[in-house]
Amino acid sequence: MSALVVDTVSLSFGGLKAVDGLSFSVEKGEIFTIIGPNGAGKSTVFNLICRIYTPSHGDIRLDGRSLLDAKPHQVVQRGIARTFQNIELFEHASLLDNLLIGRFRHGRFAPLSELLFLPSQRRQELAHRRRAEEVVEFLDLEAHRHARVADLPYGVRKKVELARALVSEPKVLLLDEPSSGLTAEETDDTAFAIQDIRDNLGITVVMIEHDMKLVGKVSDRVLAINEGRFLATGTVGEVQADPSVQAAYLGA
Ligand code: ADP
Ligand code: MG
Repeated sequence: MSALVVDTVSLSFGGLKAVDGLSFSVEKGEIFTIIGPNGAGKSTVFNLICRIYTPSHGDIRLDGRSLLDAKPHQVVQRGIARTFQNIELFEHASLLDNLLIGRFRHGRFAPLSELLFLPSQRRQELAHRRRAEEVVEFLDLEAHRHARVADLPYGVRKKVELARALVSEPKVLLLDEPSSGLTAEETDDTAFAIQDIRDNLGITVVMIEHDMKLVGKVSDRVLAINEGRFLATGTVGEVQADPSVQAAYLGA
């Protein structure tokens, strides 16, 4: 069964059709990449999946269940986590605290029972902490765990964002331009991390990416869009060879 289905989804901003009758589905365990020129509607697709926006038409389903009745904070509980095109972290908190804040924000934090310090709540908190430590280890971030995020180099902060997404134990991970601003070496490291996440954590990955070397290295399947519409899907080679894709990148 498909993990994620986007079914004839549309959204306009004023007169601009940012996403226009777009459909695609992502299989369980797939690394699926969305490409397209700037302004094609890629990040808007992620915002629609995360329920930041509500489509004017169409449906979005996770494991066969519509996400349209979910509020943005419930999307994480349903099993979708994301990173942003521009890093969004609590800059003045430590790396580890950023991962724990992420966990609480996902709606499992019950202030009253936390105050009463019920044993089950305490157990849950310890489980969160253990999970955060596991993710830190998984992404080789041990050396930085107590560092203030603002003091970390850009490449490491980008990894902290990935770590924060993983702490929620998603079924589907959405990565918006994971290589943007990274060096070639950091991009290679990111490619390994993405493959590791799929191979060893069994998470389905949907990625928006411009770096075609990274796209070619990790993607099982690629979808090209432009002006909010479907252009082509297939292997990276097939999509790059598609005349409509080439025309879109030339601005034709
Ligand atoms: P991409 O991620 O492919 O570069 P976006 O999804 O960010 O593209 O944007 C698609 C189009 O929608 C662009 O023309 C952009 O200017 C417009 N857009 C995106 N978000 C908004 C918004 N919140 N309000 C108005 N226009 C928007
Ligand atoms: Mg974008």
